[in-house]
Amino acid sequence: MDIYFTNTLTKKKEKFIPINQNEITIYSCGPTVYKDATIGNMRTNIFQDVLRRMLEYNGYKVKQVMNITDVGHLVSDGDEGEDKMIKSAKEEHKTPEEIAEHYTKLFFEDLKALNIQLPEVICKATEYIPDMIEYVKKLIENGYAYETSTAIYFNVAKLDKYGILSGINLEDQKAGARVEIDSEKINPYDFALWIKAPKNHIMKWNSPWGEGYPGWHIECSTMSKKHLGEQFDIHTGGIDLIPTHHENEIAQSKGFDGKIPANYWLHGEYLLINGGKMSKSLGNVYLLRDIINKGYDPLVYRLFCYTCNYRNKLNFTWEGIESTSKSLERLRNAYQTHLKGTEELNDKDIKKLKELENDFNKAINDDMNMPLAMSYVWELARYEKKSPKIAELLQKFDKVLAIKIDKENKEEKNKISKEIIDLVEQRKKAREEKNWQESDRIRDLIKEKGYEVKDTKEGTEINKILKEE
Ligand code: AMP
Ligand code: ZN
Repeated sequence: MDIYFTNTLTKKKEKFIPINQNEITIYSCGPTVYKDATIGNMRTNIFQDVLRRMLEYNGYKVKQVMNITDVGHLVSDGDEGEDKMIKSAKEEHKTPEEIAEHYTKLFFEDLKALNIQLPEVICKATEYIPDMIEYVKKLIENGYAYETSTAIYFNVAKLDKYGILSGINLEDQKAGARVEIDSEKINPYDFALWIKAPKNHIMKWNSPWGEGYPGWHIECSTMSKKHLGEQFDIHTGGIDLIPTHHENEIAQSKGFDGKIPANYWLHGEYLLINGGKMSKSLGNVYLLRDIINKGYDPLVYRLFCYTCNYRNKLNFTWEGIESTSKSLERLRNAYQTHLKGTEELNDKDIKKLKELENDFNKAINDDMNMPLAMSYVWELARYEKKSPKIAELLQKFDKVLAIKIDKENKEEKNKISKEIIDLVEQRKKAREEKNWQESDRIRDLIKEKGYEVKDTKEGTEINKILKEE
């Protein structure tokens, strides 16, 4: 079945044509390991994981490479400010290596909790410094880079066109150029490939241009070329990487061998918090740990991400998490019910199942349209006949969804204390005896203890009452 992607490079939805049918090559820009990864970062990682799972579901072998930036990412995405690793090391009174190790470990813990498959290659920038130096040397040789007293810069004016991803126009930039920090730069949008280290700088390596450290963009160009060759299929990252980081990767690659490194560029949109930006000053930076600490299965967050296409903004609310938690519980219950089902499926049912499978496949192949795919998952989960064949198909879908649909809900149920469960039982008894006064009294008592009971078609539900954050 054909696969379609919305390609940032062409700004169109295009049929996916792999370079090599036997293996799809993907480069995903990974984290800068100087702080905790937020649930926003994790949204991007979930989108990247759905992409590779979708390709595997379609029978492809995948080679995904992800970098770990542990040097060279300055406080601004341009060439300004301190290195994020060094800044964090100073603040936490640790070495940059300790900072990198600590946050890399936490990052992988989050990936595991979210059932995100590990890329085939994970590469740390600091382990590729000699390759980066070679890359920069070649850019100088090719006439695309020049040396100043502080750095080696890429000369964007040497390209036939700079800005093909974001559509920026160099002519406009000349007029309204942003502040130039380095007056030796030829063009305002020239960016650093290698930065000469000031005397007391702690992360530095020898190079033909003296001691220094690499620019952030050269890391990804070097490591992608090293592991995936001159051209690979798909390049992914968050939407914020388009105007600088990915634009500059393209520039470097064109300067190196004249090629755009990837054919399809996929970018995930931002996660918003209560409709706005996640920021420290607003105190609304949430980590996956915050979701887990409230008693939720981390996969609730994964399922929550499917309520919206990866290319659209998604608004995070605790109410959304609570209702998705119920959804996950229902899906897992439905799976168990089908697994234990004994009803025979007739030809009509089999035809319907085939249809739903086809629809699901089409939805995921259509630029990973997860909200649409989920509508078929629900239709299947709610199928009126209960049969293990349906459980089997749900499990197949879970290869892409990765929400552990076959996990039993017991664990979650146990989280509600016995006291509450007993009260719910007493209320049920009172209702059966039509003792409404007693049933209301118990309902209020449960509410005082922080829970709300709701009578649904499927039975009584107990929900934690959410407090405003
Ligand atoms: P940062 O930690 O800000 O350097 O971001 C690391 C990666 O996570 C970048 O590629 C961003 O695109 C992505 N990212 C950061 N914040 C969010 C967010 N709120 N929603 C989705 N992705 C994000
Ligand atoms: Zn990158």
